[in-house]
Formats: sequence, C-alpha cells, structure tokens
Amino acid sequence: MPVAAPPEALSDAVRAWLGDGRHNLLIGEERPAAADGRTFETLDPATGKAIAEVPQAGAADVDAAVRAARAAFDEGPWRTMTPSARARVLQRFAAAVADRADELAELESLDNGKPLKLARKVDLAETIDYLEYFAGWPTKIEGDVLPVSTPEMLCYTRREPVGVCGQIVPWNFPLLMAAWKVAPALAAGCTVVLKPAEQTPLSALRLGELALEAGLPPGVLNVMTGDGETGAALVDHPSVDKIAFTGSTAVGREIGAKAGRALKRVTLELGGKSPNIVLPDADLDAAVKGSFQAIYFNTGQACNAGSRLFVAREHFDEVVGALAERARKTRLGPGLDAGTQMGPLISQEQLERVTGYIESGRAGGAELVAGGGRPEGVDGGYFVEPTLFTATDDRLDIAREEIFGPVLVALPYETLEEVAARANDTEYGLAAGVWTRSLSSAHRLAAMLQAGSVYVNAWGMSDPAAPFGGYKASGVGREHGHAGLGQYLETKTVWASLR
Ligand code: ADP
Repeated sequence: MPVAAPPEALSDAVRAWLGDGRHNLLIGEERPAAADGRTFETLDPATGKAIAEVPQAGAADVDAAVRAARAAFDEGPWRTMTPSARARVLQRFAAAVADRADELAELESLDNGKPLKLARKVDLAETIDYLEYFAGWPTKIEGDVLPVSTPEMLCYTRREPVGVCGQIVPWNFPLLMAAWKVAPALAAGCTVVLKPAEQTPLSALRLGELALEAGLPPGVLNVMTGDGETGAALVDHPSVDKIAFTGSTAVGREIGAKAGRALKRVTLELGGKSPNIVLPDADLDAAVKGSFQAIYFNTGQACNAGSRLFVAREHFDEVVGALAERARKTRLGPGLDAGTQMGPLISQEQLERVTGYIESGRAGGAELVAGGGRPEGVDGGYFVEPTLFTATDDRLDIAREEIFGPVLVALPYETLEEVAARANDTEYGLAAGVWTRSLSSAHRLAAMLQAGSVYVNAWGMSDPAAPFGGYKASGVGREHGHAGLGQYLETKTVWASLR
C-alpha cells in the first residue's frame, strides 16, 4: 500500500515532519533503517490508509540500541552528572515537548484516531505535566543514615539507577504511556530503549528527536519501532536490566515469566475489567455523566475503563436510559474533524475483537440497549458505535473479559456487601468507582474493593504524584510519584567501620 498524502487538516509543521512518510530508528544520535531493511506501515484508523512507513527493528537493531544505552549508562555522563544538571536537561526536554504540544497532538490524533481536542487536553497536557514533575526529582533522591546497633559503624543507603531499561508501550495513549515510562527512568539516571506499539510509532520517534534537541546525551533515549517480536528481543536481551511494560495481561504474563527467570527488574501495567458502582443515594446526574466518560472515553480503549456498571436496582432503568440516550447522541468521526466526539478503534484487529464481543453478548442473552453496530458513512475506518448492554449474569464473557472498546455492560444489584463481592469476583484489579453521597459507604467500599485505584464520585483521575497500578492480574508495581521513581532505583547499603 503506498503511503497516502497526510490529511488536509494537518498543520504545515506536521506535514513537513511526516515528509515522504518514511522514518527511521533512533540509536544514539544515528537514524538507521532496520539492519535487514524490513519496514511496516502505520495506518490512519479513520480510513485504514497508510500514513507512514517505519522500520521493523529486528534482534540486530535491538542489540545496537541496547549497546548504545549501555555505553551511555556505563560511560556517562548521564548517571554521573550532578543532579541539578540532570534536572536542567529534563526541564528543557519538558519545555521542548510543551513547545511542540500542538504538533504532537495532531500526530497523535492522526496515528491513533482520537479526537484532537482529547489529544491536546489529556495526552499532551498530562505528558508535559509528567515530564515536568519528574524533572524535579533528580535533586530529591535521598538515601538514609541507619541507626544500626553495631558500635562504631556508619551505615547508610545510596539509591542508584537500575541501569538500562527496556520500555514497551501500547497504542491507546502512545505518547503519554511513553512519558510514564521514560520520565522516571531518566530522572533516576537510567538509560532507555523505548519501543512504541506497532500501531502508533510516530510520536515516540518525535519524542526521541526532541530529547536529543533538548540536550539529552546520545544513547540515553533510543527508540525502536517494531511489533511483538521487537519487544521480545528487548525483553530477552541480557544487557537490559529492567523491563517496564504496559499492555495486555497475556503478554504481561509472558514478560513477567521471562523477567523472573532472568531476574530482571520488571514493572507491568496490564488489563482491567473495572467495576463502577452506583449506590442508591448517588447524585444520579453526576453518576451518569461520569459513568459514560468512564467507559466511552478514548473509544473505550483505556486499561482503567469502567466497563462493568453496577447500579442499585431501584435506579437501574433510569441510569441505563440516560446512558443509552447519551450513547445514541455521540458523534463519531475522524480524530482530526473538529465535531468528532468519539474516534475509531485503533485497528481492524480491534474492530473484529470488539464486534466479536458484541455478538457474544447478544448470543449470551444480554439485552442490547444502545449501539451494537457500525455507523454509516465512515467506510474504511474502524468505527463502532458506543454500545450498552444490560444483563443479570456476571459470568457472561462481556461481563468478565476485557473488551478494550466502547462496550458497557450494566448489571443491577441489591446490597452493598453483594456488590462488593461481585465487583471483586474478577482476575483483574486495576480500578473501581463508587458513586454515593454517603461518606461511610464511600470509604467502606474503597477499603473493600480490590483495585489499585478507587475513584469516589469521579473516574479516571490521574496525577504524576499519585501511584497507579494493579492488584491481581492487572499488574506488578506502581507508576507515578515516589513509588514510580523507586522502580528505577536500586538500594545499596554501605557499612563503614569508624574504628
Ligand atoms: P494489544 O493486544 O492491546 O496490542 P499487546 O500487549 O499485544 O497489546 O501490546 C502492547 C505492547 O507490547 C506493544 O508495543 C507490542 O508490540 C508489545 N508486544 C506484543 N507482544 C510482545 C511480546 N511477546 N514481547 C514483548 N513485547 C510485546
């Protein structure tokens, strides 16, 4: 498929960056093609047409990138420069991204399909916040002096960077997920090989360029485009000290097992089937608005999507009716069209997966209340309508499995204890939500729910200072804040005799 001309809606700056549509890897400060010349296309999800061609990095390319990262780590100056010097480079990096925010938002909207407004307000705003927050950390990484009981002994800890980090990110928030990984690693003094998802490689390449322009030493941030094979080569590379991964639970299990065998450090941010609970005393307008966003935001392609909605039986029909009305009014379209409220799914594969689940919901006896089909007039794009089912059986596939699309299943319940047990009856534990006016119900449920994040009268809040991650099969470790930084640091205990 030839690379199509970029859409008219793009700015001159983004059209110029896209150029003839061919892009290369970033290793040190070199921009090589893949050693074996393989490439793949990234498609516009709104049309299915190719927008750019990027290298399919193989094991040889991954090896070159890891060597560059190793040399940058071992030989410095990144790890050895003063904390304030490292902080200044990271501040310039954050500023470079902020200066290009509009361009990056367009690129993200084009490659991922999400509405441009969303890309600006969420992806770019949070990416910049995140880079700025972690730019503040290098000067605040402290060890302790320990009150050991051995006489005349000084015992203290040093926090040292883990080393070379392989970071593998998904396609739903491509730049933001890259920032979540790269920023704490760099603040800690680590070096990075970043692998964006094969569906959305462009913003990571641009991020790597901006890092170099901002003065990050060559080799500190390398970018490998490619698919799961590229990711696996990174995980398997013996000179990678730590793997950070966001993606599906199936791939996360595999990576966790490999990292376990090799005793590499690993953090995993995986899938979810997050319960969202509307209690009888909730502000129903707020609950409807919030629950709608919780599932349909980003076309349902969020790991913490509120995809199981439990509504107190007395309000069930009212809440479902209001959600269905909102779903029917949602305007679908390409991300770069100003009127678009919901963009397409990312790929043909996702479209088939999501429509397969919709079929399975119907066949399993769930009642389809809204959506379920493909909108008219958007041929070629991976669009699916916001879809709402009601059901009473928690064991249906649509009520148990992560769909990663705009499909919500609403389930009625009777008591708080019952709903807590049903909410927790899942292998996942990423997020949960509670809508109520009762402080006591809110905090009782917050304690009972097995989830890494609990939202009360809100959904999907995120802040660089607030830990994010999963219970159970939703992940290992936490990102953001002290906890997130700590995943990139080793603790060394030094014992020094004072005799
Ligand atoms: P999805 O199914 O949503 O695409 P994946 O977990 O397959 O999610 O992909 C998330 C990221 O993991 C992508 O960058 C992808 O290329 C990468 N990936 C896929 N399979 C593997 C693997 N076996 N090892 C390492 N990375 C992988």
